[in-house]
Amino acid sequence: MPDKRFDAASLIETAYQNYGKEFKQLTDKEKYHVVSKAVMQHIIPQWLETETFFQEKKKAYYLSAEFLMGRALGNNLINLRIEDDVRQILQDMGASLARVESAEADAGLGNGGLGRLAACFLDSAATLGYPLIGYGIRYEYGIFRQQIINGEQVEEGDDWNAMTDPWALRRESERSLIQFGDQTVYAVPYDTPVIGYGGKTINTLRLFVAEPLKNFNFDDFNNGRYQEAVKEKNEAKNITRVLYPNDSTREGKILRLKQQYFFTSAALQDLVKKYKAAGRDFEDFFKYHAVQLNDTHPSVAVPELIRLLMKEGLDFSKAFDITQQTLAYTNHTILQEALEKWDIALFQEILPEVYAIIEKIQNKLTLELTQKRLTVDEIENLAIIDKKQKVLRMAYLAIYGTHSTNGVAQLHTDILKETELNNWYRVYPERFNNKTNGITQRRWFLKANPEMAAFVTELLGSDAWITDLTQLEGLTAFAGDDEVIARFMAIKQEKKRQLADFVKFNEGTTLDLDSIFDIQIKRLHEYKRQLMNAFHILDLYYRIKEKGETTSCKRTFIFGAKAAPGYFRAKGIIKFINEIKHLIDNDETVKKYLEVVFVENYNVSYAELLFPAADISEQISTTGKEASGTGNMKFMLNGAATIGTLDGANVEIVEEAGAENNFIFGLEIDQVEALRKTYKPKDYYNKVPGLKRVVDSLIDGTFSDDGTGAFQDLYESLLEGHTWEKPDSYFVLADFDAYRKAHNHVCDVWQEPMRFARMCFLNMAHAGKFSSDRTIHEYAQEIWNVEQM
Ligand SMILES: *Cc1c(COP(=O)(O)O)cnc(C)c1O
Repeated sequence: MPDKRFDAASLIETAYQNYGKEFKQLTDKEKYHVVSKAVMQHIIPQWLETETFFQEKKKAYYLSAEFLMGRALGNNLINLRIEDDVRQILQDMGASLARVESAEADAGLGNGGLGRLAACFLDSAATLGYPLIGYGIRYEYGIFRQQIINGEQVEEGDDWNAMTDPWALRRESERSLIQFGDQTVYAVPYDTPVIGYGGKTINTLRLFVAEPLKNFNFDDFNNGRYQEAVKEKNEAKNITRVLYPNDSTREGKILRLKQQYFFTSAALQDLVKKYKAAGRDFEDFFKYHAVQLNDTHPSVAVPELIRLLMKEGLDFSKAFDITQQTLAYTNHTILQEALEKWDIALFQEILPEVYAIIEKIQNKLTLELTQKRLTVDEIENLAIIDKKQKVLRMAYLAIYGTHSTNGVAQLHTDILKETELNNWYRVYPERFNNKTNGITQRRWFLKANPEMAAFVTELLGSDAWITDLTQLEGLTAFAGDDEVIARFMAIKQEKKRQLADFVKFNEGTTLDLDSIFDIQIKRLHEYKRQLMNAFHILDLYYRIKEKGETTSCKRTFIFGAKAAPGYFRAKGIIKFINEIKHLIDNDETVKKYLEVVFVENYNVSYAELLFPAADISEQISTTGKEASGTGNMKFMLNGAATIGTLDGANVEIVEEAGAENNFIFGLEIDQVEALRKTYKPKDYYNKVPGLKRVVDSLIDGTFSDDGTGAFQDLYESLLEGHTWEKPDSYFVLADFDAYRKAHNHVCDVWQEPMRFARMCFLNMAHAGKFSSDRTIHEYAQEIWNVEQM
């Protein structure tokens, strides 16, 4: 535990040193800097202590192109258990902790679930005392800032002040050289502490910035070539300039490949250098390192580690074995367009040495499969170097070059084994395993919902759930206690009020606190089916408006979602939702029953306000498409019921909380696969009452897409398809009626407030399995073989 007390004097001192001012003269942003720097000083001894403790031991490394950390200050104060002290100290100095915390920009170095998972894992590992070091890229610009203008998404660069971030220390002396075919740069590490709950273990997130060998060419400048003088610097810095705002397809090819190799090589060089300095035998490398590849983005680690080990004198065969025993791979998707492939010619040009190693790996694979008596066709089917398509299949490289391949929820792992990666599973069944995702209850409950957290602690008579979420099971004993349920409802109401205040301030919309808060927040993608949600809202509109249907459920539908800037169809869906919002807002009758809000710039900090305020969690992906989902878990933990398909981790959520406490609907996995063969969306369009009406609204003049053609495109994607895609690939029309029925059921239950609240309460009580603490224990014990501090 840090022994130096955190006090007012340290803030005053830090303010003097950094700003030459009295603390109270500072702006909120400056106060945030000063408080953060003072916390940094406070934790240094324990940070060093952690490093020393693990010096001689095996450690795990998490290689990820994304870390969606959000804000640090509030979370760190909570984990250090000094939040109340700091609040008081600030109050005594006339400042507000809440305002100081709000001055921090989100570290948005990720797109969505995959990046946020990485952040939750770091928190859990530090809390549990496992040595886990994160390695990634310190993007100058994180995920873009989203504005909604005239109902459309407009992107803006996210200038999050990477270089003045008080939580990072530059480690110039530990930089490495990274060589591409046409360019050589430095990778300079920046270290951020990852403070476990209780402050005992403080791990590190190490993110690299690309820098030139030479910052400035004096001769060029002297001869008037001003652009030339800084060209090398700009080209180097471009590598870590911006996070690709794309979580489903591959884009910006060369730069993206350079980014992947850049951070992967930098991380592995870091490990090799330190290991060498410790003077150990490289044949034992795997006994000290477990490296987890978060999806295929760092899969170039396979040839790169082999290359580095060969430079240390090992032969290829030995280097391969050690690499395989060191690395493990997590698969995050089965979406075909997201399975990474690199053009061979391009790869060879950018990474010639690495490509030569991949050829050796391919030869070894071919030989191994031949010995296993696979046919020529079967061997070709498993090729890493796909000569026909002229691409490298990175997922195959990752499976072959590692000792473990895991999916992220049971259903996802089953699909990998039975279909998507069945060819590999048949050859190497022992490599495949499941690690169902999780979320950290520190950020997503203790920090985001302190009111409910305090209530839970009171009921359980202990706060042990903070580091052992299975304790929540003890809440089931209170489910029959009306007083407890009433207090649960009162807290939910308070969280709805807090969200409403923020939404009022941010979006200018007033929310009705007595309505059902029905929330869908996640990246905008066709498979996540925000469009189906929109169609249902429009159907409700017509039922109320034209059929005079009355309802005693007032519903508030809240959306938050960013669309990849080049994803035309996703942007069309954002516009469509906002057009529906506009229609309802301007209808005096209907707006009594319905409200739609599209929150601008959904990010981690907004998420912390949204999850605790939900009555209903929308998890409505086409079954088979959402590998796990983690938003679903955040809602559940905060006491919301799920309306959802049996997809990803929803399956396990329902197993834990009971189907009777959720609203499950729609095609199941086998039905989706069966229907795919004969599916005719027009049959549903013609037969399902009300469906034609809402689909036609895309093209019949009800709404305007401002001449972009986006609505026509959506319409055609549902009913006609194209040569490259079948109509309605995500079964929106097939599931619509079941979805509507599920919503009707929600409304029925809502009529009985205590019954509805009890369902929500029981979801919270059964959320224990979905702590990332459980997930990290599984990785540590079953894949990494590392021990706790
Ligand atoms: C949890 C989270 C996600 C992932 O949400 P899914 O519903 O699982 O896709 C994405 N973005 C943010 C900001 C999150 O907190």
